[in-house]
Amino acid sequence: MTNPTVLPGATLGVLGGGQLGRMFVHAAQSLGYRTAVLDPDADSPAGLVSHLHVRCGYLDADGLAQMGACAAITTEFENVPAQALTALGEKLPCAPEGASVAVCQDRAAEKAHFVACGVPCAPHAVIETPEQLAAVADALLPGILKTARLGYDGKGQVRVATRAELARAWDELQRVPCVLEKMLPLAFEVSVIVARGRDGAVVALPVQRNLHRDGILAVTEAPAPGVTDALAAQALANAQRIAEGLGYVGVLCVEFFVLQDCSLVANEMAPRPHNSGHYSIDACDVSQFELQVRCMAGLPLVAPRLHSSAVMLNILGDLWFDERGCERTPAWDRVLALPGAHLHLYGKTSARRGRKMGHLTITAATPQAARETALAACAVLGLPAY
Ligand code: ATP
Ligand code: MG
Repeated sequence: MTNPTVLPGATLGVLGGGQLGRMFVHAAQSLGYRTAVLDPDADSPAGLVSHLHVRCGYLDADGLAQMGACAAITTEFENVPAQALTALGEKLPCAPEGASVAVCQDRAAEKAHFVACGVPCAPHAVIETPEQLAAVADALLPGILKTARLGYDGKGQVRVATRAELARAWDELQRVPCVLEKMLPLAFEVSVIVARGRDGAVVALPVQRNLHRDGILAVTEAPAPGVTDALAAQALANAQRIAEGLGYVGVLCVEFFVLQDCSLVANEMAPRPHNSGHYSIDACDVSQFELQVRCMAGLPLVAPRLHSSAVMLNILGDLWFDERGCERTPAWDRVLALPGAHLHLYGKTSARRGRKMGHLTITAATPQAARETALAACAVLGLPAY
């Protein structure tokens, strides 16, 4: 079946109502679409700004039937049950498809896909049984034990140095299926966001460099400092191969490690726009969310152009507490006094430590100027310099 192009005026649906869904809704609405969000939370960031908010669980038959009235469907997080997307996909265009999302939901399947595409990833072993635990090669230690499913922001991960620690960590993780990855000597981390259309056309954002703190993305820089043209081309080619291997339609983010010997290793992928691509809203002429809209609607994809240097700082709930743990409001007025400051707050009703509340993108004419202003913003907000 060839799906018709979905033109503005139609309703686009998204499964999940978090900040990614909210920024998708903003992009869709600015192109003139109506939007529908499925999310159980009455105060979900995307539900609050959408024309329609279908408030129910992801497998609720009535809710899915309501979403089935949309002209096309996408998802904003990978842990939406793949069967919900697959069921909707029988009736209307879904980008990405349930089968692609299913691969991204499972670290073991994801790694197997990287290997099948000839894309290097960390040496690893799948641990689902005590026999597999016992058979782990010594060469994988020290390593990181990661749950195969439902991990994010460093959750569901334990660093292990010895076999005894590994056995204990697996117990701690309730012996769910896991992947043990060898700890690699990272120089730094980058990610690539590609968009692949129904016709197989692929476009990408420029490679961006990411800094994590406590397993959570803290800073993204574009263009990526320290990334040669050759390394960028390799990252783009690998991300494209991964998307093509899945027959993927939609926006896909691939996270990579750059090792100390300058080699490139794929870490994981997300079947949706990604936190590391948020800068594209303010620094590119086509954002990752507009690409998501174009992919699901079957519209042409045009290559995004980075028109400004950018630094994105993630804003976590920690900023709402002072040194003594008392609640406060961050000094947004002082942040907004900085040139090229673009503040995005997600409308979340309560701040918690580690919770993603928003992000700040600094745009400037040069990487140096973006960095200087971003460091000034860090100083105002009480964020560590990077
Ligand atoms: P996300 O929020 O991106 O989904 P996640 O919880 O799925 O994160 P990973 O991306 O697997 O976690 O790991 C989080 C961070 O831990 C990485 O960005 C990297 O800094 C570090 N890390 C993970 N695996 C390794 C490894 N094999 N060697 C060294 N560092 C690693
Ligand atoms: Mg990650």
